[in-house]
This record gives sequence, C-alpha cells and structure tokens, in this order.
Amino acid sequence: MGLDEPITYLKGVGPELAKKYAKLGIRTIRDLIDTIPRRYDDYSQHTMVKDLEPGAVTLKASIISVKGHYVRRGMHITEAIADDGTGEVRLVWFNQSYRAQSLKREQEYFISGTFGRQRQRFVISNPNMELVSDFPVSTARIIPVYRETKGLNSKQIRTALSQVIPQMRQFPETLPGWIIKDYKLPGYAESLENLHFPADADSLATARKRLGFEEVFQMILASLLIKAEIKSEQAPVVPFDEELAKRFVNHLPFSLTDGQRASVWQIYQDMERGEPMNRLVEGDVGSGKTLVAAMAALMVLRQGHQVAFMAPTELLARQHAEGLYKALEPIGFESYVGLLVGGLKPEQKRRAQAGIAAGDIRLVVGTHALIQEAVDMRNLELIVIDEQHRFGVNQRKTLMAKAGHMPHVLSLTATPIPRSLALTLYGELDVSILDEKPAGRQPIITRICSPNSREALNTDIRQELDAGRQMFVVCPLISDSATLDLNSAEKIYEQFNTQDFKQYRVGLLHGKMKADEKNTIMQRFVAHEIDILVSTTVIEVGVDVPNASIMLIEGAERFGLAQAHQLRGRVGRGGYQGYCYLMMSDSKAPSQRLRALEQSSDGFKLAELDLELRGPGAIYGQAQHGALDLRIAQLSDGKLLAAARQAAERFISQGEDLVQYTVLNQHIARLQAVINLN
Ligand code: ADP
Ligand code: MG
Repeated sequence: MGLDEPITYLKGVGPELAKKYAKLGIRTIRDLIDTIPRRYDDYSQHTMVKDLEPGAVTLKASIISVKGHYVRRGMHITEAIADDGTGEVRLVWFNQSYRAQSLKREQEYFISGTFGRQRQRFVISNPNMELVSDFPVSTARIIPVYRETKGLNSKQIRTALSQVIPQMRQFPETLPGWIIKDYKLPGYAESLENLHFPADADSLATARKRLGFEEVFQMILASLLIKAEIKSEQAPVVPFDEELAKRFVNHLPFSLTDGQRASVWQIYQDMERGEPMNRLVEGDVGSGKTLVAAMAALMVLRQGHQVAFMAPTELLARQHAEGLYKALEPIGFESYVGLLVGGLKPEQKRRAQAGIAAGDIRLVVGTHALIQEAVDMRNLELIVIDEQHRFGVNQRKTLMAKAGHMPHVLSLTATPIPRSLALTLYGELDVSILDEKPAGRQPIITRICSPNSREALNTDIRQELDAGRQMFVVCPLISDSATLDLNSAEKIYEQFNTQDFKQYRVGLLHGKMKADEKNTIMQRFVAHEIDILVSTTVIEVGVDVPNASIMLIEGAERFGLAQAHQLRGRVGRGGYQGYCYLMMSDSKAPSQRLRALEQSSDGFKLAELDLELRGPGAIYGQAQHGALDLRIAQLSDGKLLAAARQAAERFISQGEDLVQYTVLNQHIARLQAVINLN
C-alpha cells in the first residue's frame, strides 16, 4: 500500500466515510499519517476496580452481564457489569444499542473511560472497550484525540491509523544525520509512530519535541535561504552623507532616542552595502518609527532618487505625507513629498503622477496598491512599508522589473514581536528594535470600567473635554448584531450624540464609509471641529491627533491585547496626560488580559503574554501566515526556537545541499512560496 493511495484502501473505509475524511482534509494515506492530534487522553495507567477513583480510568476486566433497553423519548441505554477479580463496576452507554450484541463474555477487555457519579450511582460512562488480545488503539494507553466531524470520530481515525503502522515505520529520515545526533532527536519514523500511538508520556514528549523542532527548523531555513537569495542580488549603493543627517537631526525639536539612532545607523550601513536591504523596524506605538524611515529616505532623496512610502490606509498615507513634509521642511526637502491616494481628484492625481515621472516628487506616499500600479519606478531605490511585516520577494521582483534593480525595503511595525519570535517568523528580515519611548512621555492611565460605572466615567470624560481635549471611542462592531450583545459604533454614536454627550460635537467613522467621507471626518477631528470620534478599529494604526487624550474602548474584552495596546497608543501623544478606559460589555470580573493591559504599558511584555494566552495566529493574523502556522511547536518555547535557528544557520554555513534532502526540500519550497508571496 503506497502513501499516495486513497484512504479507501483501508479496511472499513468506504466511499461514504471517505467523504467525511475529505472534510478534514484527509484524502490519502499520507494525509492520514500527517494528521496531528489535537490533544491526548491518558488512559495508560491501569486501575483495579477496588481502587477506582473518579476521573479517567483504565481497567482490565471481563463482562459478566449486559443488557440494553429503551427509556423515555427513544433514548437507548446499555448497562453492563465488569469484574476484574477485585470487584464489580457498572458500565453505561447511551444510544449505542449495538453494544449489547458486540460485547463478548468470558474475554478480557481493556476498558477506558471516565469514572464518576451518575444519578446517585458510580459508573463508567461511554467507555471504550478493546479486547486485551487485540492491538489497543482507544484504551490502555495515551490516546490521541483528532479533529473530528459528524460521522467520523477519533476512534475511527485511530483504527484507520493502526492499519498503516508498517508504512509509518518505513518513512525515511527527513533531517540531516548531524542534526539528529547533535540535538539528540529521535528518528522521524519513530516520532511519527509515537505521535499517534505513544508508548508512554516520555516518548510522546520526545516525539513532539522532534516534530516541533523540525517544523521550526524548516520555517527558519526557508526564510534564511530567501534572505541569502535577496542578499545575492545587487541594489543601488546609497552613500551616507553625515553632514546631511546631522543637519536634519539638529533641526528636530527633540533628540533621537538610542533605539532610533541605532536603527538609523543600521539602515545607513545596509543601504551602502550594494545588497538589497530587508529590514524590519519594530517599535511600540509612538516610539518614533516614521522618523527613522524619514532619515532613511533622506539619503535616497539627496541622490535625486525615489522613495515609495506605503501605508495600509489612505488616512494614514495622508498623515504620513503631512508629517514627512513637516520633518523635511527645515532642510528644504519638503517639496519632494507627494501624496498618491485613491481619494485625489483626477486633476490632482495627474499632477502627482507627472511630478513623479519628472522626478520632482521623490518621496511618494500612498497606499500599497496605488504605489505599485501607478508609480514610474525607474528611479525607485527605497520602499518603506508601514504596518506590513512581509514584503515578498516576488513583489520586490515586480518592482525590480520596472526599476531595473532591486530596491531596498524597510518595514515598520508597531506589533511588538519578541525578538526570538521575530527571528523565527520573519527570518528573512533583519530586525531593529525601538524599545524605549521618547523622553518625557507620561504613561497612559488605564482603567477597566463596567457598564454600571458609566455615569461616573462620563463625568470624568466631560471634564477632559471641557479642558479642550478630544476623545476616541472604539467599538468592536459597526452596526448592532443579532447574535452579539455588544455596543456597536452606530449605537454608541447615537447614544453619545443625543444623550450622554449631546452638548459636544460627536463624529462617526467606520470602514464601510466611502474614502472621502472618512477623510473628511478624520480631518475634522484633527482640526478639532469634532470632540468625540466614535469609530471601529479603522483608526487602529498610526493616526496622530496630539490633542486627543482619551481612548474609550467599548466591549474591551473583545479586543486582543496587542490590538488594545495599539489603540491606547493613539492618545497621550501631545504632551497631555492620556487616559484609556476599557469598557466591558457586562459587569463580570475582568479577564486576565484586561488586567494585564491595566497594569502594563510595555508592548513587548503584553505581546509575550498575548502569545501565551492566545497563540500567534490570534496576534499576528491568520491570513498573514496561513501555511506558516506551526502545528506542533509552541512559539513561546524560546529554547526550541533558538536550537532550531542554530541548526538552520549551521545547515547554511556548512554548505549543505538542500537537493540531497528530498522531503526537506519539498517543505522548504512550499514555505518559500508563502514567504515569497507567490
Ligand atoms: P510610531 O512609532 O507609532 O509610528 P511616530 O513615528 O508616529 O510613532 O511618532 C510619534 C510621535 O513622536 C510623533 O509626533 C513624532 O514626531 C514624535 N517623536 C519621534 N521621535 C521622537 C523623539 N526622539 N523624541 C520625542 N518625540 C519624538
Ligand atoms: Mg507609525
């Protein structure tokens, strides 16, 4: 039986069951073996009837009596008595009328299930039964539980898997021998078998360690190989002009933070090397990433070449254009800045494009899509990407085809990813970290609120508004939902505008509004023609309104830590004390996440906690990773990440030939396709 044979090759798997398997993505024997258990139930410890205690138990006993009968409403109950020589215990199954027929007397069974009280009696309910003379798959061992679907349960999957153990044992080793040896890992085939049929808890742990290691190793190797590929391309040398950098810094109303200085220095070195820069600047909200990008741009502009500055939204693009204009004004570079967004009037857009083509506009600020399609790229040397961690090799190559060379790429992100994790998830990037806030920033005062304290909170808010400040309100939904009892932006807007804050100017902003409507509202808020801006997370990234001092998050328990922290970073930017109110939907006790947010203002710390509590998918977005999601390895396992990274680096530095490792090579190709954004 080959691995690529359909699952119907197995005994007991017909076309109907195969459809159910297909629902779980399992079509071939290989898919079946490749299915990762979601969890395990430990039935490996045998107990004697006389020693039974409530919980998961396994007995070795014979059936001395069994009977089935229907009770009310068509429910069927099978009851049996099992005896192991030390005593008798009652077994009960619900709606399994075949049980009475299938149980054999006088034979010894492994019986695994949960022992507990039911209607005043102690019973084992719905236990799995397997003859001691058979190979047990659902009793008497650590039992894997798989993802299931209606009509296909873990027991069936285990039974199917038990038929392909010989195939599992024949899997060739997938890692180089020196890795197995140096990192003390068990072999691949052995690990697979222990994943599905663990011999004991230790073998299971070791198997999972090995398979997790391999996952991370592959992911890091894939991105390191991409990194090497990028570095092997040529990119324009952008010379460092110290005098210009100094002049720019001297005109700033503040001094650079150490993190900014270090990052800028790394960038200047990157761009002088003649290889394409691929750097990620990570810094908490308000850590001054835009300035770092502006300083990178400086050297390119000075050469008469072009920079594309891509923002995730039009709103942000506008704000960046303004900020860059102001920052470059004192050194006379402001006229190089141009805006290219969908909301421009046709005439404005034509003028922008003409300016870009003529080389008058050299720092083009816009959204990703627009810049990629509309800019004349001949002179493009640097791409700055705000809030997108990954810019694929292929996107880069498209630009290269237009520009005739590989541009330098600088990515900015406010998602504080712990360094070890960033190296794993974004191994193809070099990472600079801005880990301190500019001096003189007061920490934002954060408070958890419940609906019954809303009146008192409103009084506090009015005081701030009366002092001339403004407030952001962020809601989890645009409109009321039939299924979720949450305050929507529309509802809060209505309530604030007509009741709670009717003497103030309240505005509404959300993702379903047209681009120019959104811009108008945002600009009115920036100009302080609006006091309270009720919105959804469209304002999440980057918008800078120094006069806003309050962030009110409605339904705060619905937001991720990292996201709520980002939102909080929208206030307290203008030298006023910032406040963040986390309004819960109900008056229950606040979650650990909300309390963490109240207590800590350290984005990196919160990110690590979020990672532990919710896993990487929730934080960094499923869409972004997809195939990069790890199935076994825990990204919070720093030791594992470090070891796998070291192994990947050694693989490259030792000049290993990937082609010699067939399976590894296939996995790498698949991962690279994702990283490359094919
Ligand atoms: P983010 O990292 O969130 O993108 P920004 O680049 O928007 O942060 O910067 C936030 C604010 O901090 C801006 O108003 C910027 O002018 C200011 N800023 C940047 N660097 C410094 C610094 N070293 N000292 C004081 N303020 C700074
Ligand atoms: Mg920013």
